[in-house]
Amino acid sequence: MNRPLLFLDVDGPLNPYAAKPERRPDGYITLRVPRNDAHEDDRGLSSRRRPLRLWLNPEHGRTLLQLGFELCWATTWMDDANRRIAPVLGLPELPFVDFGAVLLQERPDGVHWKTGPLVDYAGGRPFAWVDDEQSELDQTYVTAHHQGPGLLHHVNPRIGLRENDFRTLADYVRSLNTSRTTS
Ligand SMILES: [Mg+2]
Repeated sequence: MNRPLLFLDVDGPLNPYAAKPERRPDGYITLRVPRNDAHEDDRGLSSRRRPLRLWLNPEHGRTLLQLGFELCWATTWMDDANRRIAPVLGLPELPFVDFGAVLLQERPDGVHWKTGPLVDYAGGRPFAWVDDEQSELDQTYVTAHHQGPGLLHHVNPRIGLRENDFRTLADYVRSLNTSRTTS
């Protein structure tokens, strides 16, 4: 059976970059990787020379794999997520959305730059999108342009993915399966 897609952002949901620096949440490990200009928490020139600090929870890979989705990276890391993030989480190499020229390009209408490419990538297939940056405008865009179900699930970048987020995502998969067998 064709599983729904789960579009996964890294910085915010998996890496709670906005948490207080001295407060690494339980279960997380610290990773330092060379900086790439596209990363979201750049705070000026001086910080750009230092490696980027990430917090990741190695349990998250297994949990994500059990939700019933087909996982897909939807992040400024693009294919780097397979090199840097997936091994730490115990995830296999995943497909990723290639944002190409629209990467980090703000739109005049306020719709997030990821939203159009994600809707195009989904091509009408049901999806959930986990990110720390969606707004009402993105929901409106998805409702207008996506033919199937689409869940925009917002995660606080100070907190990252938690048990209740995983429950919401699992419930969403279940609701899709129920509507498929009853229609
Ligand atoms: Mg993010």
